[in-house]
Amino acid sequence: MERWLTLVNRIPPLDLSVYGEAEGYPLMVVRSERYDPKVPSVYLSAGIHGDEPAAVEGLIRWAETSLGKLASWNWMIFPCLNPWGLERNIRLDAENRDLNRFYDSKKVPQIVAQLSLMKGRRFDVAVTLHEDYDARGFYLYEVAAKRPHWGELLCAELISLLDADPRRQIDGHSARNGLIRRKIKPDMIKGHPEAFHLHFQHAARTFTLETPSEDHLGRRVRLQESFLASTVKKLKLGMVS
Ligand SMILES: [Zn+2]
Repeated sequence: MERWLTLVNRIPPLDLSVYGEAEGYPLMVVRSERYDPKVPSVYLSAGIHGDEPAAVEGLIRWAETSLGKLASWNWMIFPCLNPWGLERNIRLDAENRDLNRFYDSKKVPQIVAQLSLMKGRRFDVAVTLHEDYDARGFYLYEVAAKRPHWGELLCAELISLLDADPRRQIDGHSARNGLIRRKIKPDMIKGHPEAFHLHFQHAARTFTLETPSEDHLGRRVRLQESFLASTVKKLKLGMVS
């Protein structure tokens, strides 16, 4: 939180606010103070599962080096959605819930509060950052409403840092070179993940990145960081063309 505060203080168009708390931990959002329809809108989040530290660290590191140069874009960033879990290295929250299954319900006050911040907002890209103990390399879910899809290119840019998960089936979905392109329907899963909600309500493109929890932490952090760099680069190019 200190690092985010220091960073946001250096970037005047951004604002950090606390929108709730969980077991005494503040929940923060970093947002652009003004919305400008002429520049890209981006949603980023990390740390909904507390035992996925590279996602949280990768996000802040990327922000510390890159966010200042993109200060004029429209941002909505949730740096850590489960701080209680992060400090304890536990996936669930203090009430034993997988927070990533409540995006279609009103049962969890902190998610209700998060959803109200997002109400009515559209994003060109939404990214949720994760890690996975079963992963054998990094992999990426692409839920894309918009074509052309970006998944192949984004994955290709990452393989110099860490191998892509070689499996052809990951979590029951067919995968290729670490990419899972999903078509999702509202009734597919009981309790919507954040990415489902983003896809149905807010985002033209939704990505969920997973790094392998058993790999070297530094490498996982770098991969998370450079995924964000590649995604932003792609958005920038889209603006020019
Ligand atoms: Zn996760």
